[in-house]
Amino acid sequence: MKIAIISDLHSNIEALQACLSKAGALHVEQYVCLGDIIGYGPNPAETLEMVRSLPKVVVIRGNHEEALFGPYYKGLRPHIQQTVDWTRAQLSAQQLDYLKSLPLQQTVAGVTMVHATADKPERWAYLYNTELAGECMQASGTRLTFVGHTHQPLVYYETPTGEVKYLTPQAGLVVPIYQLGRYVINVGSVGQPRDDNSAASFVVYDTDEQELEFCRVPYEYPITAQKIIDRGLPVLFAERLGKGH
Ligand code: ZN
Repeated sequence: MKIAIISDLHSNIEALQACLSKAGALHVEQYVCLGDIIGYGPNPAETLEMVRSLPKVVVIRGNHEEALFGPYYKGLRPHIQQTVDWTRAQLSAQQLDYLKSLPLQQTVAGVTMVHATADKPERWAYLYNTELAGECMQASGTRLTFVGHTHQPLVYYETPTGEVKYLTPQAGLVVPIYQLGRYVINVGSVGQPRDDNSAASFVVYDTDEQELEFCRVPYEYPITAQKIIDRGLPVLFAERLGKGH
């Protein structure tokens, strides 16, 4: 079975639609969303409803969902808080209840799905090095763990000697999963990539072939950027879409 793993959509409906077209062409049968459906972008309600309509979808909580409800909000910078407040006002009571109910972590097809890291996921640490990736592997309990949060696609893998290394996947790259060693796979971001590439990012995991396909999908980011400006959200969030940073 092919499972598409999407993360960090950030209210960007144009990027999500582009990714879903690509996933459809690859005959994906199930979807997992690793959180941060909302925040930064102009279409929170529409993006959320599109996610909820996906086949067999499993949705995990991200820090931007957490910011709507928890004390996490207080630690955010003012321009981010402004966007959280705006986002909350766009969502219905029913949509807010749904986001509040999302789990921090879940196992799907024998694989761990979590937004930031399996090592104390509620702390929202950023997996920026092999040491933290190793701690995530240790805490995970499954051989494969899919994460998002940094907005940069990456594969951390364990060598036969137990060392953790990483590779930076290129668009369209198919990575075989070997039977030995653990993996932490960062799927990148649909709605706000930060690896100097404006194209939306997601991963297809083929459970039969034991392969990962890293997908990059260009989309009409100027449309999204203009909507961010039109809604009075911080211009910075519009500008970074084109830079991919
Ligand atoms: Zn994010």
